[in-house]
Amino acid sequence: MKKYLLPQKGRFYKANLHCHTTLSDGNLTPEQVKEEYKSQGYSVVAFTDHEIMVPHPELLDDEFLPLTGIELAIHEHRADGKRHQEKDFHICAIALEPDNLNQPCFHRTKYIWGNASKQLDKIRYDENEPDFERTYDEECINQMIRTCREKGFFVIYCHPTWSFERYPDYIRYQNFHAMEIYNNASYKVDGCAEYNPRVYEDFLFAGQRVFAVAADDNHNSFPKGTAEWDSGGGFIMIRAEKLEYRTITKALEQGHFYASFGPEIHTLWFEDGKIHVECSEVVRIICSKGCRRPDKRHGQNGQTITEASFDVRPGDNWVRITVMDAKGRCADTNAYFTDELFAE
Ligand SMILES: [Zn+2]
Ligand SMILES: [Zn+2]
Repeated sequence: MKKYLLPQKGRFYKANLHCHTTLSDGNLTPEQVKEEYKSQGYSVVAFTDHEIMVPHPELLDDEFLPLTGIELAIHEHRADGKRHQEKDFHICAIALEPDNLNQPCFHRTKYIWGNASKQLDKIRYDENEPDFERTYDEECINQMIRTCREKGFFVIYCHPTWSFERYPDYIRYQNFHAMEIYNNASYKVDGCAEYNPRVYEDFLFAGQRVFAVAADDNHNSFPKGTAEWDSGGGFIMIRAEKLEYRTITKALEQGHFYASFGPEIHTLWFEDGKIHVECSEVVRIICSKGCRRPDKRHGQNGQTITEASFDVRPGDNWVRITVMDAKGRCADTNAYFTDELFAE
């Protein structure tokens, strides 16, 4: 029997899970963000302004769901004064329940900057909690991830390339739900090579069952129409039965989505030791695995292809699919671990 890895029921909702507005350092108001994303066919935007978590129920309508979120950062302060070598650690935390309005990892006097500091009246936090002090080290970073999770947030590890974090740094981070396999602003505005399939696989090889998301991280600092316009590049397609807050966040928790900065994946299922994908017109479909047995299909002589099947064996550890269009843009599925795939 077919095991649908993207549920057969429901429909796809296009989503951007990383977004900045004028509440922090973005250039569009929340209303303008909604207008921009609706015009590009999005149904979901998580508002993740820096250090300020504000719900936007006023933006909710039948075709648009705002998710409540925040981006939290820890900055390294090097004693040797090499400022250009300093690293950052950023996560986006998205509230799983719409009434979860207390800002996680809050500090009453530190870390809030820019426009956010003028809007402290909009912030809610748990007054019984002590101030959360941040230091750029493994213990504090893992404590921040764990705290966000325990407080009911979907936690995404952001833009490792922009953050200048390397394998010895990020491989120590535990318990986040997902990582950014692609970050549009880092790629388009900052010039970072922020398509990170290798980083994603580093986590998988370390046994971390995490998901891959693509996101915009839009600040809209450049005029619309320029190559640096950062809205509408990285997205996920969430498969769910309805556009309702908890239905959508449950689909996030269950990994019912794929990541993309171009092509679309229509169907993904597993049956009798084969994984099968159907997608928009692409030139290459890659099957990556947690072993030395990858596979691929190419469109021959400049032709495009729209589906492929690949053998999967129990010993492959995990499997995931990447499809690449003629412009070199990719869509990535989450990884599926073979012990779960082959389980009855
Ligand atoms: Zn960031
Ligand atoms: Zn950001």
